[in-house]
Amino acid sequence: MSVEYFSTRTKGDGITASKAILKGLSDDGGLFVPSYIPKFESTLEDMSKMSYRELAYEIMRLYFSDFTEDELKNCIEKAYDDKFDTESIAPLVSAGGAYYLELFHGATIAFKDMALSILPHLLTTSAKKNDIKNEIVILTATSGDTGKAALAGFADVPGTRIIVFYPKNGVSAIQEKQMVTQKGSNVNVVGITGNFDDAQTGVKKMFNDKELAGLLNEKGFQFSSANSINIGRLVPQIVYYVYAYVTLLKEEKIKDGELINVVVPTGNFGNILAAFYAKNMGVPIDKLICASNENKVLFDFFKTGEYDRNREFKLTSSPSMDILISSNLERLIYFIAGNDPVRNASLMEMLSKEGRYSIDDEMKKRLSSFEGGYATEEETLKEIHDLYDSTGYVLDTHTAVASCVYRKYKKDTADDKTTVIASTASPYKFTNSVMKAIAPDVTGKDDFELADNLCRISNVPVPKAVEEIRNAPVLHDIVCDKDEMKETVMKLLGI
Ligand SMILES: *Cc1c(COP(=O)(O)O)cnc(C)c1O
Repeated sequence: MSVEYFSTRTKGDGITASKAILKGLSDDGGLFVPSYIPKFESTLEDMSKMSYRELAYEIMRLYFSDFTEDELKNCIEKAYDDKFDTESIAPLVSAGGAYYLELFHGATIAFKDMALSILPHLLTTSAKKNDIKNEIVILTATSGDTGKAALAGFADVPGTRIIVFYPKNGVSAIQEKQMVTQKGSNVNVVGITGNFDDAQTGVKKMFNDKELAGLLNEKGFQFSSANSINIGRLVPQIVYYVYAYVTLLKEEKIKDGELINVVVPTGNFGNILAAFYAKNMGVPIDKLICASNENKVLFDFFKTGEYDRNREFKLTSSPSMDILISSNLERLIYFIAGNDPVRNASLMEMLSKEGRYSIDDEMKKRLSSFEGGYATEEETLKEIHDLYDSTGYVLDTHTAVASCVYRKYKKDTADDKTTVIASTASPYKFTNSVMKAIAPDVTGKDDFELADNLCRISNVPVPKAVEEIRNAPVLHDIVCDKDEMKETVMKLLGI
């Protein structure tokens, strides 16, 4: 039987992949999950001979089972093309005793490009397949990187509009500049007075607002989500973990079947969940190491079994991980609850009412492949400094959190398995912090001059994505209160 999609919150009939992609979030507020995690139909050895695009098809076809071969291949061709600055799409770089899986070679130099370059094509294909005539309105809350990657993916894609909300004072200068300079007749960018969780909560509320949905439908619109809760984002992320393994195999760094560990700098839990799916599909992964910054809700959760968001929210140098409610964790909770939507829904209700929930011992046992770790601000900058000093390789702040957590894990456990660290952003996306870590005496009058200085020191060329925004005009300057998001959306759509 082919894969169908179910909500994590109520027992119901399964829906097709294309319908799940279109809806983003289920009507009951749940996330869509596949009826089962499919196993590979090719051997690791066979997959090691495939290009990234071929491998992407081999994996995604198992999940997007109502897409025809032509439809899916077409989406893949349009996504993984010369928008990426390397033929291999996701290169694996060895440094300091680990492998860094560089996921930042796309249009916006962060890993969100891996999924957001294909989502618009999956979405418009899904709309065609389901005879949708409404214009699709993408509503997105961003902690920095999703926003620009979604804007770049959707800009001027016919039949779509996109509205992005970001915390006005919670993203880096370059991240903000990337978003507010976005071109395209169908794009809007709005800063909110609040943090990322406020933005995400506001977007979720609009998705659950039936009255608003009715109003939109009358005017020929319907919402969909580009956030990492969309199954059309999760599935493309599985591909690069398989790719990493088969690349190690091809390069004879590991033997076929040898277990590896994977470390992922985590915020909303989408990236590491994709690694978990890859493991369950058949990639020989032992530990999935979940790395947090000082907002260490997930670290505490893996240690104690209690998820508790009632704590101070910290702004760190890895803003894309400054998250207290990791939305995608819900899919894992559902899984460890034995695919029981009732059980999961009651935990999610507690989370929404009290900001916390606890899992029982049996559920906790099913988390045995996960390890939690975290790095403080000081440790993160030191990691960038130390790795640069010893190898010349420059990490961004998010990857540095993971790298530091890995080093601590290895020291504590003496587990020396081959390890892949997901490298989620180019150092040029967080130039300020990176320069503070490797060359505190070198300054620049702005982030761009600093980028030129980083280039001089590191010998890594300034990416095109940074050059392009250097002199670009600001096209978006709307700011709204966190309680005015709905009104803002209605105004922007003219309803
Ligand atoms: C989004 C993001 C993360 C966190 O990924 P999740 O899938 O939300 O856990 C980590 N690093 C960077 C650079 C990101 O943009």
